[in-house]
Amino acid sequence: MTDATPDSAPMSGPMPTAFDPQALPPLREVIARFGLDARKALGQNFLLDLNLTGRIARSAGDMTGVTVVEIGPGPGGLTRALLATKAKQVIAIERDHRFIEALQDVIQAADGRLSIVEGDALEVDPIAIAPAPRAIVANLPYNVATPLLIGWLGRIEEFVSLTLMFQKEVADRLVAKPGSKAYGRLSVITQWRSDARVLFNLPAKAFTPPPKVESTIVHLTPRANPEPAEWKALEQVTAAAFGQRRKMLRQSLKSLGNAEALLAAAGIEPTARAEEVDVSGFAALARAYRGR
Ligand code: SAM
Repeated sequence: MTDATPDSAPMSGPMPTAFDPQALPPLREVIARFGLDARKALGQNFLLDLNLTGRIARSAGDMTGVTVVEIGPGPGGLTRALLATKAKQVIAIERDHRFIEALQDVIQAADGRLSIVEGDALEVDPIAIAPAPRAIVANLPYNVATPLLIGWLGRIEEFVSLTLMFQKEVADRLVAKPGSKAYGRLSVITQWRSDARVLFNLPAKAFTPPPKVESTIVHLTPRANPEPAEWKALEQVTAAAFGQRRKMLRQSLKSLGNAEALLAAAGIEPTARAEEVDVSGFAALARAYRGR
């Protein structure tokens, strides 16, 4: 484990780390020097306020000894903040080649604790590149945020936690409860595998350039005892149920076969609608579907 605390450090209070995010050139200067205009197609909305990136990094919890994977470091505002935590190392995956050169100063200053993987996060397995204990902390590119999350949820037990920035509307869906408008497939799959909670919102003006929407940081930890269910079966039953969310399940689940028998096996009223069924109900339905 890397302990960057100097011998002369005081024995009480927050432990200082050797990495000082403010000691590097300001992010606006880095952006100007390397001509890093934001590209919409890559979901580039940067956080240039180091107080804010520090807040996000700290909100991930105690990262002592943890390898943190960051998706999309961009000009490196959050990367710097992550290096200022007690994380053992930071591995950042970036698709846009322009940032690799711009991040060289941070790599130098990080003294072996930062490595960059150039590639598409949809194709890089964080479990393969980062040793345990590992966590993900990222201001996600919104165009691929949901598929990335779904990929990680499938093996969330391999992570200490995921601390992720989403557009608020997606964050609302992740934590939505039955009976609410935002409750849907993403809520069920997320809450089946994880304990997900909203940490805080950020206004659009916190970003450069500002996106059209508000953003939200969500913290996800693996659920200790997820209800037994098969991933594919749960996807199939939630797709059928929420595909026609206004209809009664005895109708919307017809595409799966004998809907009434499935619902009876799962102990769900045939007249219930998808948005009334909780995660346990959907897990029971997935088991009934799998065992049919
Ligand atoms: N972390 C920086 C910050 O907070 O200022 C940048 C965040 S920006 C919302 C998203 C970043 O993800 C950009 O740097 C973008 O180039 C990168 N990105 C977009 N799609 C990606 C992908 N498929 N794989 C890896 N990085 C990606």
